[in-house]
Amino acid sequence: MSLVVTGTIGIDDIVTPSGHAEKVLGGSCMYFSAAASFYGPVRLVAVVGDDFPDAFRQTLHRFPGIDAAGLETRKGGKTFRWGGKYHDNMDSRDTLFTELGVVAEAPPAVPAAYADSRFVFLANSHPAVQLGFLEQLPKRALAVADTMDLWINTAKDHLLVLLRKVDGLVLNYDEAEQLTSRRNTVAAGRHLLDMGPRFVVIKKGEHGCLLVHRDGVCALPAFPTENVVDPTGCGDTFAGGLMGAIAHHKPSASQPADPDPGSFASVRRALVHGTVIASFTIEAFSLDRLTQLARRDIDQRYDQYAAMVRV
Ligand code: AMP
Repeated sequence: MSLVVTGTIGIDDIVTPSGHAEKVLGGSCMYFSAAASFYGPVRLVAVVGDDFPDAFRQTLHRFPGIDAAGLETRKGGKTFRWGGKYHDNMDSRDTLFTELGVVAEAPPAVPAAYADSRFVFLANSHPAVQLGFLEQLPKRALAVADTMDLWINTAKDHLLVLLRKVDGLVLNYDEAEQLTSRRNTVAAGRHLLDMGPRFVVIKKGEHGCLLVHRDGVCALPAFPTENVVDPTGCGDTFAGGLMGAIAHHKPSASQPADPDPGSFASVRRALVHGTVIASFTIEAFSLDRLTQLARRDIDQRYDQYAAMVRV
């Protein structure tokens, strides 16, 4: 079923305890689409400036599932740029700079052919842009949003309106605390449900994630990995695996079709895919690991994960 995403496509500078990478491909929408494309087609809506390197465009086209008809290149505009530096534990980071460039201008146009999209993901971007995008997709069956500290600090009013319109929210534990003033993750999740969505996924880095749904609560560990190079994009690829698995779920005897894609069981099942694909992203800078990945690698790690969590 049709999945569409909007968010940033940008150029990142990253410093981690393992090394650094300058002027590499990044952006919330880029990571999300790359991950989701392993599950089926994904429609992308984003804007870059005419300084966006051709080599990055070619990387984007290495993911055959990405439909890039909604990628706008704005003449004379500057591509979104972000710099981040990770702390020794790799779980927390400081933003060194954010240059919004074209992201601060008019949002990209949504191709008419995307209007029938059923599954919508609002990757990190200004909440007003997320809201405007959502309004153009009247056929949606499930809409999920991501957000982060910058938007909680600078656009909280828009964010609160957005929360009343989406089915789900994905965010980091410190952002959940910032938004709700609740330190306990379950309490923060419940507070966020009061703000509108049916479910909230709170990410806790190497400690996994917590799903707080109107119909239940569940915790999932991260896939344990020693090869931690660059966590950038883990949150976005986590969301890409989650939404890709929901939108393109193939019913089987053990996992029958669910008429409600936002049900507790459906979201919980799909979170395993998000967890697994994020564990690949962290193994290299930028999208380097994802460009080398095949679906069979994901399936193999999924089986390892399933065996690990079975009790
Ligand atoms: P993640 O590590 O999953 O939070 O995603 C990091 C990616 O998000 C990087 O590639 C950045 O280019 C992009 N990014 C960083 N800050 C923002 C922001 N405020 N809005 C949208 N995208 C962002």
